Amino acid sequence: MKIIVQKYGGTSVGTTERIQNVAKHIIETKQKGYGVVVTVSAMGHATDHLIKLAKEINPNPSRRELDMLLATGEQTSIALLAMAIEALGEKAISLTGYQCGIETDEFYSKARINAIHTERLREELGQDKIVIVAGFQGSTPHGDITTLGRGGSDTTAVALAVALSAELCEIYTDVYGIYSSDPRKVPGAKLMSSISYDEILEMAKLGAGVMHPRSVELARKNNMPLTVRSAFDYSVAGTKIVEVNPMEKAQVRGVTLDEHIVRISVPNVPDRPGIAYKLFSSLVGLNVSLDMILQNLNHDGLNDISFTVPDEDLDRIIPTVEAFIDEVGASPLLIKSDVAKLSIIGTGITSDVKIASGLFGKIYELGINIEMISTSEIKISCIIDQDQAQRALQEVHRYFELNGTTVHAEEQGA
Ligand code: ADP
Ligand code: ASP
Ligand code: MG
Repeated sequence: MKIIVQKYGGTSVGTTERIQNVAKHIIETKQKGYGVVVTVSAMGHATDHLIKLAKEINPNPSRRELDMLLATGEQTSIALLAMAIEALGEKAISLTGYQCGIETDEFYSKARINAIHTERLREELGQDKIVIVAGFQGSTPHGDITTLGRGGSDTTAVALAVALSAELCEIYTDVYGIYSSDPRKVPGAKLMSSISYDEILEMAKLGAGVMHPRSVELARKNNMPLTVRSAFDYSVAGTKIVEVNPMEKAQVRGVTLDEHIVRISVPNVPDRPGIAYKLFSSLVGLNVSLDMILQNLNHDGLNDISFTVPDEDLDRIIPTVEAFIDEVGASPLLIKSDVAKLSIIGTGITSDVKIASGLFGKIYELGINIEMISTSEIKISCIIDQDQAQRALQEVHRYFELNGTTVHAEEQGA
């Protein structure tokens, strides 16, 4: 049986009417002869609402209990979607992550999928049912519920597609596909008909919330064909994620802004071999995404070491960094949270120095100071002040001539 996996995001299942529309589209897919496995997010802003409730009760809830709570959001939407499909006369069954064999590690709130035991899924598909799986969740080998991190339903979808050797994985969302920048922040952003795994992976890691980075990593590793398209207008093909960008010329393809980062500086660290190792090895095991590490020589044999981390990782690492400071006798930690990371992305862009100089020139022209820079073959990122960041995003997008014909996001019912 040819299998297709579809994922519908929170806005796409945000009301009962939308759930009914999604149910119709799923049935149409089944009628084309596919075995259909669907994963969905929690309805609308349900996850944000649950987090707010938790914080009212306990400002620092344990991650295990938070996962227990957040997983209920997806449990609501899978049951409603299965009911909507049944109401239209098709067979469907909803399964939680645990029921469908999604086994993860024990890193609550940021768990990774270790395996999907597909027996139950195949059994239900074998009975001609449409299988609806709760996105964003799994369970540990002990049977405790975990979640995969915000936006993690995309990863559930790709993991299911890989485990079932599906023909295709379709991500349905509240915009028409992947754009050159967030169409809600940059009104002229252009819809792309295709983008390479590497480019969208980099964009996702650098703040393009349209895809969970791990979903792209998993699809790339397993050559899983992936498309991103609208849940409100099925006539638009959306964006195909492909192996390579067919264009030879290095070209900026996307501009992203990540406002959810903080800059941490440890001033006056003794300048001796092994110090960076000591600091960063102490963070191993905390599951932090480090970025933009910068060391600058001060004076009298002392350095400043700065790096950026996602906001959500900050609380987790502070005690460890403070212990390091005590141990080596550095100055107190400096934390700057009103920063943002502006990045340009495109295969091979650092091989053309005109691109880097154009970016820095544009930011200079806007009167904005660049605090840190990092590059890879495929991206250039700058840390700048947050209050200038939106303007910089739009201007840099325009500078690289990325503006195109866009159907505005609001038209898609978001
Ligand atoms: P879903 O609930 O469907 O997963 P998300 O909110 O997680 O939806 O992702 C879709 C949103 O991603 C869009 O509404 C858009 O504002 C945002 N976004 C950010 N960058 C991009 C981009 N480059 N292309 C498309 N959408 C983007
Ligand atoms: N509901 C979860 C979130 O809001 C997961 C997802 O939507 O992918 O982050
Ligand atoms: Mg999402």
